[in-house]
Amino acid sequence: MLPAELSAYHHLTTPLWVVDPLDERLIFANYAAQALTGESSLSALRFGPLSACAQTRLSLYLNDLQHQHEIVEIWTLATLAGDLALRCRLTLASFPGLAPVILFEGANIPHAATESYARSVSYKSGRHNFYQRFFMTTTAPMLLIDTARDGLIVDANLAALRFYGYRREEMCQKHTWEINTLGRQVLPVMAEIARLPGGHKPLYFVHQMADGSTRHVQTYAGPIVIDGDRLMLCIIHDITEQKRLEQELEYAALRDSLTGLLNRRQFYALTEGQASRHLPLKSDYCLLLVDTDNFKAINDIHGHLKGDEVLVQLSRILESSSRSGDFIFRWGGEEFVLLLPRTALDTGLEIAECIRDSVTKLSGEGLPGFTVSIGVARHQAQETIDDLFKRVDKALYQAKHDGRNRVLAA
Ligand code: GH3
Ligand code: MG
Ligand code: MG
Repeated sequence: MLPAELSAYHHLTTPLWVVDPLDERLIFANYAAQALTGESSLSALRFGPLSACAQTRLSLYLNDLQHQHEIVEIWTLATLAGDLALRCRLTLASFPGLAPVILFEGANIPHAATESYARSVSYKSGRHNFYQRFFMTTTAPMLLIDTARDGLIVDANLAALRFYGYRREEMCQKHTWEINTLGRQVLPVMAEIARLPGGHKPLYFVHQMADGSTRHVQTYAGPIVIDGDRLMLCIIHDITEQKRLEQELEYAALRDSLTGLLNRRQFYALTEGQASRHLPLKSDYCLLLVDTDNFKAINDIHGHLKGDEVLVQLSRILESSSRSGDFIFRWGGEEFVLLLPRTALDTGLEIAECIRDSVTKLSGEGLPGFTVSIGVARHQAQETIDDLFKRVDKALYQAKHDGRNRVLAA
């Protein structure tokens, strides 16, 4: 069974043979090679009247090829016009499931031999051989797209086939909008780039792979004219891992790592920063300061890890007791702040009471019973955040002083 990658070599205009260096078996010949040499055996080619080979045994080339030394052989092509010499360049290549193989690439195609050879090239032939070779062999996934044909993918290099997981025939029936999660919305973007006089423009998309999974990609797309056709060359760079790290960093910057709640910095960003638009009526909110009672004792008796578990469970209660649009922060240690926009003091007290009550009823396997005390205050017009905190702190202090497990308003 041949690796799927080999079939992509059929689209090269240069003849190419793949040979096992150990048993000297011809594994693969692309269409151009088949047209040129037909049924000729490898030894007829290598040891014909015009042939010249530095080594008779291919395995003896391996060391030099591994060190990227230039190796060329002259092969004999038996054609109707008589024997012709073909210069072949040797390189080493690896494919999944195969031991390293030698690629023989015809470098000068004798003129008389080309008549039978002009067939089956993926995208035009002629003087673009170099670019085509580059296109096929570069490790960056590349697509050639025809924007005039609804974004049809007219060619895909080996790296792209590997990346998307399609066979070439499948890939070249698809349109860009079929692999882009934006769907047909991507077409105006493509048309816009096609109009640019030159230069590539990085764009960010999510592309869908053959197996249904998606990858974040950065694409450099730019117009390219090939044999008079105005196409779009799209170079794809997989940035999924980079995106994931970015999201992780973003999350870490916003959230407390133990509870997943917003951190204290976000409280100030929300009440003082740009994002304060989330609080359209700035003075119309309630603040709850929730403090776990005797938490130090929980740590001392049950251990720090159990203490952490208590904090996580409490966080979930805070989430389930609050409404959508309320903000919950881990203020630090075993203290939490709830910011309730557009909320009257009575409602703030009700929510606080609901939290206090739920905590007393919390029972989890191996989770110690605990209680919370809560100070509640409604922000007053012109009041600074510091002054508001002084009031809510005072209410909390009083709640602790009055015996804990209670809610008090400032
Ligand atoms: P009070 O009822 O007066 O609030 O008493 P308390 O014991 O809860 O208050 P205190 O401030 O004396 O103790 C808080 C403890 O919380 C001390 C600290 O070690 C612990 N703590 C702070 N952050 C964490 C954490 O992330 N995990 C755990 N397990 N403990 C923490
Ligand atoms: Mg405390
Ligand atoms: Mg406490």
